[in-house]
Amino acid sequence: MESIQILLLALVLISVSFAGANYLGWRLFDRPRHALIWAVAYGLAAIQYSFNLFRDALVSPEIYWLLANSTSFAVVLCAFWGHRERLKLETSRAAMVTAWVALTLASVISTVIFPDPGLRTALAPGFCFVCMSAIAILLIKNGPKPRLAQNVAAVVHLLFGLTQGTAALIALRLGEGPSPELLLAYRWANFTFMPSFYVAMGVSAILLLATDLSYKLRLLALTDPLTHVLNRRGFINNSLGALARTTRGGKPLSLILCDLDHFKRINDRYGHTVGDRALQHFTRILLDSVRTGDIVGRIGGEEFAVCLEAQDCGGAEAIAERVRRTLAGSPLVFAGQEVPLTASYGISTWSDGDDISAMLQHADIALYNAKRAGRDAIHINRQPLLTAPG
Ligand code: GH3
Ligand code: MG
Ligand code: MG
Repeated sequence: MESIQILLLALVLISVSFAGANYLGWRLFDRPRHALIWAVAYGLAAIQYSFNLFRDALVSPEIYWLLANSTSFAVVLCAFWGHRERLKLETSRAAMVTAWVALTLASVISTVIFPDPGLRTALAPGFCFVCMSAIAILLIKNGPKPRLAQNVAAVVHLLFGLTQGTAALIALRLGEGPSPELLLAYRWANFTFMPSFYVAMGVSAILLLATDLSYKLRLLALTDPLTHVLNRRGFINNSLGALARTTRGGKPLSLILCDLDHFKRINDRYGHTVGDRALQHFTRILLDSVRTGDIVGRIGGEEFAVCLEAQDCGGAEAIAERVRRTLAGSPLVFAGQEVPLTASYGISTWSDGDDISAMLQHADIALYNAKRAGRDAIHINRQPLLTAPG
């Protein structure tokens, strides 16, 4: 077996492995459609490298070129489609089929009708270069957080694309008799860089699947499924960041704890579904009353917390008052019936030595006082250190 055949066999096996890995990624990682599309792409790549491996066994060189090229176009289109799918971008199937038909037609023309060895050889790597560059741009421009895996994938796709671009350029010059420099570049591109970047590209796709899943799980672990704001853990996690910025920057940090009044009665009178709607209604009002960067969480059954950066207790009180008034002015309407809601609010402001749980305790004391004062009220704990337990 010649070394080129060994390399091609390795590429077939690598492609089969990545097809399997993406299929498993689809099965195990919550069935993302793009994983299945990538599995198909690698499966087709295995077929394409098999055509290369067994080209002498095929009926004629023309058949080989048509099969290898049309499969290669399909591989690259599937890879591109998979990336668009992952980024939730619409992809026109008609445009993809049209591109495939046009390229295959160009292949037929340059192979059978007006034979041009340079062009027919350059078509597949040239198209691959275009699509890999487009994927790299997609990943850099549209990728959601976290960025690291996507930036790595973008670089790897671009590098793989460049090996294909180099191969295409050299192929185009085949007819003129390639120079020693071009031949050397061809060898480096095709035998050293191409297989390495091909493997790296497969690994980067699996990393994308794993990162997406871990990010999704992290979001689920930190988000409340009913109201879609942060849960207690998420609220504390995010507030820790705000606290760190506050201690560094010397700006105030305040916390509002909100608890719906007599919520048990709402459930008892109108039913649990209306209770759930009331929680969503209150969340909407909270979100509409704060700035985008403020941290809102549902930290208990009918208990919410808001962490306000750069707000002292006066600022926090004004926001709580806005929420209180909005809630009074916009009762929940369910099945044509108005369900009046009120809430009580306790406010604390950061003072030296407090952590988030201390601030929550201080706000809880203020909330308790607001409840005792008759509910639908706002209280501020101005002396957190004195009223802190112990
Ligand atoms: P207070 O004014 O003193 O806060 O009285 P309350 O009735 O609001 O407080 P209590 O702690 O007695 O009752 C809270 C109720 O919140 C009891 C629980 O059934 C209800 N609750 C907790 N989580 C949910 C939820 O996810 N959905 C619904 N519908 N109700 C919930
Ligand atoms: Mg309550
Ligand atoms: Mg409560």
